[in-house]
Amino acid sequence: MPVRVGIPHYLGYFSFYPLWKTFFEEIGLEVITSPPTNQQILNAGVAEAVNDACIPIKLYHGHVMEIKDQVDLLFVPRFVKVRKLGTETFCPKFLALPDLLRASIGNLPELLDTRVDLTRGRFELFRIAREIGERFGVAPARISRAYIIACRALRRYRGLMFKGAPAEEALACLETDSKAVVQNKQGELSIAVLGYPYLIYDNFINMDLIKRLRSFGARVFTAEMVSPRKLLREAKNMPKQMFWYYSNRAMHAAYYYLNRMRVDGIIHVTAFACGPDAMLDRLMEMESRKWGRMPFLTLSLDEETGTGGVETRLEAFIDMLKRRKVVPL
Ligand code: SF4
Repeated sequence: MPVRVGIPHYLGYFSFYPLWKTFFEEIGLEVITSPPTNQQILNAGVAEAVNDACIPIKLYHGHVMEIKDQVDLLFVPRFVKVRKLGTETFCPKFLALPDLLRASIGNLPELLDTRVDLTRGRFELFRIAREIGERFGVAPARISRAYIIACRALRRYRGLMFKGAPAEEALACLETDSKAVVQNKQGELSIAVLGYPYLIYDNFINMDLIKRLRSFGARVFTAEMVSPRKLLREAKNMPKQMFWYYSNRAMHAAYYYLNRMRVDGIIHVTAFACGPDAMLDRLMEMESRKWGRMPFLTLSLDEETGTGGVETRLEAFIDMLKRRKVVPL
């Protein structure tokens, strides 16, 4: 029976899942993923995580609870730096994720808490892959092959998102090997939805935000729909980069949608009680005002956020954008 490795369906999942899943399967492991977030996962996360954790960290605990008894080990990489150049890292809670889990949840299977710091060298990702493969006694040639196939899967996933597919749609396309992607061509309004991928693409916690906006007749754009090269070009708009990888990506995308591809409005999806987000939100709002008074809405999420409140705020925002199109302010 193959070793069963668990991958929680949250946090880094939305950025790297095809890479991990493909690699583990290609070296002969069975991958078990928790289901998309639901009420039971949220309740378990709230019950298990430390009280002052932000909602994403609580949800991650909930996803771990969902699969911990079905797997031999859990893959919880310790992200330190995921760009080869640059100093940006992750918030302390993100960095300490394996330790938080060990401290909060009893009867955990073994955690595979591989440290990911791509600034260590050009071939660091391959070195990590080799280290994991060797741990399971896989031959070097098979590890190399698995690594190449996994990188190809990640490139394909990113390509699909770049063409306008939100994470789940892109993953569904990868699973079915289909080329069909919901195209972002319909809609009288264009709205940039920015923030951390685990808030933008988790349809439970954001209450189906992308689908709702599309139902209001809006085309939705995210940071993943801008090429990394274009995002980096926007970095020069900031006198100083922030410390956090996802915050910088969101801010660079904001500059892109403010400056290069003018959208009708920006929605910043933020986690209540997130330190980095407090700074990012303020900066995004100020820059939106500065760059041609771009309409800006902050949507703050936590376990208490209700569908009704989100729906009302979105409707009001959309109405304002539509009026603004007819009578420019
Ligand atoms: S960046 Fe913010 S939302 Fe994300 S894990 Fe850290 S504190 Fe939570």
